[in-house]
Amino acid sequence: MGEGSLVSLLWLPTAVRDQHSSGLTWTETTDPKGCLHTTETSGWPSYQGWTVEPHATIMPLPNRGIEIRQHIPFSQGSFSLRHTQSQPTNTDFIFQFELIGTSDPNGNPAMYFWPEADDTVLKALLDQVIIPLSDAYGIPLKAPKFLAYPASFGATSVRMSNSTFDTYTGWLGHEHVPQNDHGDPGLFPWSKMIGLNQMPLTQAEYDAISNENWNGINIPYKVGDHSTPANPANPNAEQTPASQLGSAARWSEWALQVVKDSADSNAVIHAAVNALSIKLDALNVRLNNLPDEVVAALPPASTGGLTVDDVKNAVTQVAREGIASQPVG
Ligand SMILES: [Zn+2]
Repeated sequence: MGEGSLVSLLWLPTAVRDQHSSGLTWTETTDPKGCLHTTETSGWPSYQGWTVEPHATIMPLPNRGIEIRQHIPFSQGSFSLRHTQSQPTNTDFIFQFELIGTSDPNGNPAMYFWPEADDTVLKALLDQVIIPLSDAYGIPLKAPKFLAYPASFGATSVRMSNSTFDTYTGWLGHEHVPQNDHGDPGLFPWSKMIGLNQMPLTQAEYDAISNENWNGINIPYKVGDHSTPANPANPNAEQTPASQLGSAARWSEWALQVVKDSADSNAVIHAAVNALSIKLDALNVRLNNLPDEVVAALPPASTGGLTVDDVKNAVTQVAREGIASQPVG
């Protein structure tokens, strides 16, 4: 369920395919990570004869957006990290992206300076790369502190140990990876980029979609300050099965609102649909398990003459009708 069933994104929808290798076999497929690099070039690199390429290369088009060329499908590892010790780097379920330009404040002024990337470029990177990867592979939308180059080079306070890296899940830069000394992408403007997220959700709400505990009370009723899709009579109502289904219905309504309000952003639609998929997966599991859970929760001989199957059928019926009977408008 959830993330597992969504791992089908092999190529970014807006990328041009430019493949030179089938890639490396993952040595681990837990703790997914995304890694950002800067190329320190102004044009498309050829990666030392296509031996050290990332999954994809991103060309910034200042104040217009980005252009993406993808080299390795996401089912395989890519090559841009050094690997000198037993802890894997390139094959540790890390999706790598090279940003064309520089992270060096004293670098060639003709190169795009990523620490001061413009909003349009950052938004495009977020919508076309970061969010699709995070949605598909369950990479948390977080990153460690970035240092400015050249303070980011070598053994720094932000360079992870092998063991920290191994279990870290989230986004990071080459400057955080152990066994490596490169300081790219320097002071990457992570927070500024995340602040451009159009989804009408706080970070906590976004996390709640992915991490929701369906057996507890961790179900968000309010969806940011977006138009309220439903009217839960009592926001603190008991989390009955019907109200959980009602919550799912409200999430669907929210996703439709996002799609409707999006001028032309396929990535936003993609993110909304993925968020909804996670929700629906969880809902299906919940629905399938509910009759057994209810029966298990009943004290012995409390079914009032009904058979166990009668009870299960009744629960199933109530749950299914709950979907249709919940007003979402
Ligand atoms: Zn790098």
